[in-house]
Amino acid sequence: MEDDTKPKKPGTRLCCACNQRRAALKRPKTLEQICRECFYAVFEEEIHQVILENKLFKPGERIAIGASGGKDSTVLAYVLSELNRRHNYGLDLFLLSVDEGITGYRDDSLETVKRNELQYGLPLKIVSYKDLYGWTMDEIVKMIGLKNNCTFCGVFRRQALDRGAALLKVDKVATGHNADDIAETVLLNILRGDIARLSRCTSIITGEDGPIPRCKPFKYTYEKEIVMYAYFKKLDYFSTECIYSPNAYRGFAREFIKDLERIRPRAILDIIKSGEDFRIATSTKMPEQGTCERCGYISSQKWCKACVLLEGLNRGLPKLGIGRNQGLNSDAKEDIKKDGRTKRSSSGLALHQEIGMWLNGRETKGDVFLFDIHPTKVFQIEGITQIVLNTWLMGHPPKSIVLVHIVS
Ligand code: SF4
Repeated sequence: MEDDTKPKKPGTRLCCACNQRRAALKRPKTLEQICRECFYAVFEEEIHQVILENKLFKPGERIAIGASGGKDSTVLAYVLSELNRRHNYGLDLFLLSVDEGITGYRDDSLETVKRNELQYGLPLKIVSYKDLYGWTMDEIVKMIGLKNNCTFCGVFRRQALDRGAALLKVDKVATGHNADDIAETVLLNILRGDIARLSRCTSIITGEDGPIPRCKPFKYTYEKEIVMYAYFKKLDYFSTECIYSPNAYRGFAREFIKDLERIRPRAILDIIKSGEDFRIATSTKMPEQGTCERCGYISSQKWCKACVLLEGLNRGLPKLGIGRNQGLNSDAKEDIKKDGRTKRSSSGLALHQEIGMWLNGRETKGDVFLFDIHPTKVFQIEGITQIVLNTWLMGHPPKSIVLVHIVS
């Protein structure tokens, strides 16, 4: 199949913008035939307008650019430096990288970021999973395999960026999420029925109630145009995929978006617009923002997701905390089943402790939870984080369900 992310050979037509130079490419976003110079100008100007219209930055702010060494963040660092100079934004820009500890991938891409530091004259800060959490992704994958590794990585990265940003004392973090990424996320959140994320995934600024807000100057910038810009400008970026990158589910959404784009390029912007126009019913219960009792990071639960995942890793129960929050996750259930006992998990934790860790303080009196854990007998669970639970066995094998009713 033809790779349509590569710029096409220059045609004989004149640029539809300046009508003087020969068109060098067809803009993926508009399908206009355009010369390189006009492409650079329109690409940068559109980003400048997005920054102005959405008031992404204020003069004097310190901004960290989330830098992975990939095309998006490299182009973002380059374009933001240019626009900052050209339009006197008055920003102090920094590069902020997260070292997940992935040998053969992140170590190489960080070398690119280090070169970008010199090329663009932007100070670089690197924070690592090993320093922050005591684990590298190599070690995590060794323990959990290639399933759910991106869940750990994504949760840890989010916090790592915030912690790095706090060390740099910046006012905001700018990330290279592009229009394709956002359209994909809209679709994924619809498919997953994740109302909370759906309501905020199209926001150009997020986390204003958190420690450090984030913004996406590339919200309306097409991935193909970023690739073309980087290619024509000969920017130094790293293009290898992560060696642990299965993420099949997102891959389906990505493929679907690419198919739509081939038929109708505007489809990407339309999906983003649809996401923006969703209105969540006021009766929908949304998670309440608090702080993690353990690390102080923002969390809607007693412990933030990173602390739950870390606890699982440190206790040899890495699958604890994975999955939807409607019940014990299936992998943790497997841990329990494999153990061959009904009340003890493979780690020796009593089942009620497992459930208590999962509930993690989200329970209130009167709540009812269903846990599909295939128990073989009725038992009572009590004394979990100062609450008393009554359980009943519902139904029969092969699908047995424990009903947990919070009674006090
Ligand atoms: Fe982390 Fe997964 Fe991305 Fe690799 S593909 S960097 S493991 S989130």
